[in-house]
Amino acid sequence: MPICAKCKNDVKKLYDCDHTDFLDYCKECYTELHYYITEEGKTS
Ligand SMILES: [Zn+2]
Ligand SMILES: [Zn+2]
Repeated sequence: MPICAKCKNDVKKLYDCDHTDFLDYCKECYTELHYYITEEGKTS
């Protein structure tokens, strides 16, 4: 079972991109990461 690099949970599907430094994140962590990126763009 694949493990999320951030929360260490076992998940069925992992996501990665340049924002995660190409580490495998679960959907929850991946979504959260991009949520903060989006919020930063809005506030600044
Ligand atoms: Zn996770
Ligand atoms: Zn990304």
